[in-house]
Amino acid sequence: MIELEKYYDVVIVGAGVAGLNCALNLPRDKKILVICKDTPDKSDSYLAQGGICRLVDDADYEGYFRDTMRAGHYENDPATVECMIRNSQELIDDLIACGVRFARNADGSLAYTREGGHSRPRICFHEDCTGREITTRLMRKVRSLPNVLVVPYVTVADIMCRGNECFGVVAKDSKNGKLYRLYADYTVFASGGLGGVFENSTNFRILTGDALAICLDHGVAVDHINYIQIHPTTLYTRERGRRFLISESVRGEGAVLLDKNFRRFCDELQPRDVVTKNILAQMKKDGTEHVWLDMRPIPREEVISHFPSIVQRCLDEGFDVFRECIPVVPAQHYFMGGIRSDLEGRTTMKRLYAVGETCCNGVHGANRLASNSLLESLIFAKRAAKDVAANYSRIDLNAARAAEEALDLEKYSNVPALLRSYKNKVLEAIKEAENEQPRN
Ligand SMILES: Cc1cc2nc3c(=O)[nH]c(=O)nc-3n(C[C@H](O)[C@H](O)[C@H](O)COP(=O)(O)OP(=O)(O)OC[C@H]3O[C@@H](n4cnc5c(N)ncnc54)[C@H](O)[C@@H]3O)c2cc1C
Repeated sequence: MIELEKYYDVVIVGAGVAGLNCALNLPRDKKILVICKDTPDKSDSYLAQGGICRLVDDADYEGYFRDTMRAGHYENDPATVECMIRNSQELIDDLIACGVRFARNADGSLAYTREGGHSRPRICFHEDCTGREITTRLMRKVRSLPNVLVVPYVTVADIMCRGNECFGVVAKDSKNGKLYRLYADYTVFASGGLGGVFENSTNFRILTGDALAICLDHGVAVDHINYIQIHPTTLYTRERGRRFLISESVRGEGAVLLDKNFRRFCDELQPRDVVTKNILAQMKKDGTEHVWLDMRPIPREEVISHFPSIVQRCLDEGFDVFRECIPVVPAQHYFMGGIRSDLEGRTTMKRLYAVGETCCNGVHGANRLASNSLLESLIFAKRAAKDVAANYSRIDLNAARAAEEALDLEKYSNVPALLRSYKNKVLEAIKEAENEQPRN
């Protein structure tokens, strides 16, 4: 069992791609703690199937920018979109240097697949488990660093702050039962999305937006909390629990959507929100609980090499994708809103950063373009690490002690109950935002 120290240079909350890439890009002379609620493989990063976007060449810039803005209903922040696209090639090079294996053409060049909303193929992939490939490689590198400690089963229940400055976190170790009050010069929320607050979601159930609730409690700005993305195609089942995603690149490679009479009813390659609306309208019209997805238009060899996990999961559920259609239904998938952060991951509170799905830096606007989220998480986590390094200063220990002494420890006497109250707070905030400013 790992005993945590009192003071770390940087505490990173979350061990998905955002948290790991932040740790990897911080200076090696800093003592870094990465904590996560469960084991590191219980992150949405691990689940990503389709892939990660990359600017193919200079000629692709305008198209990639336009596709991202169009999918986001032009609510995206153009400067952030530009920053992401311009840094995408370097980021993919970083991943390859870390050992990530992407699909290649016969001549050794990167192979690209296509997903809805993209005007051309520009998505790097590793079979249908790109997220697992990236996350395991990053984790291997992080674990090799003597200055970084990764600790599972530690849940952040609060931050310690005073005068709009963050001094660290309050965290509960669910294995040894200890409640830690950890000081940190910098705290980074890399704590993922909020799918766990919804009944039907592709996300891990543990991702319930704790960081959002904590920020709401302490007056740290949170934007567009009602900007929730629904994925058009998850495998339909009557069982409760996490929904299994049928990647958009299946449609990008030629799969078609069919109604109850096995007739096509929409353009499958429109952005996600448009396809979702079409499916829900068709289900209503047909009086069904799902529509059908036919993967048989995709060449058999392509299905075998590109989508092995999907084929296997469908088989486990009793569907042979080579012989029949599979039932699919939309489910909550991604969170475009989040803790307000700038191009360097800085929030509105001093010494507190937010990166990855938990933050809202304006890249995605009102709707995320497929395969932009791994890229966004990785790029802005790296930028946050560089920003911390460039502006490093120590906390004032007297102020940190005062923030610690001001905590009401009774609040943490039952952390599971506290987390449930956070979940309700997030749901209420979503409802409120939806009433005030409904999304079109
Ligand atoms: C099924 C699925 C498929 C996807 N496919 C793609 C794809 O093909 N391409 C793409 O670009 N994107 C895809 N996405 C989205 C993408 O995977 C995520 O947006 C991205 O991985 C988010 O990374 P993250 O590091 O911000 O969060 P996550 O990877 O979700 O990690 C969150 C971390 O925070 C920790 N945490 C949360 N709360 C606390 C707390 N209170 N205390 C301590 N730790 C906490 C968790 O334990 C976890 O370690 C997919 C998502 C899903 C669900």
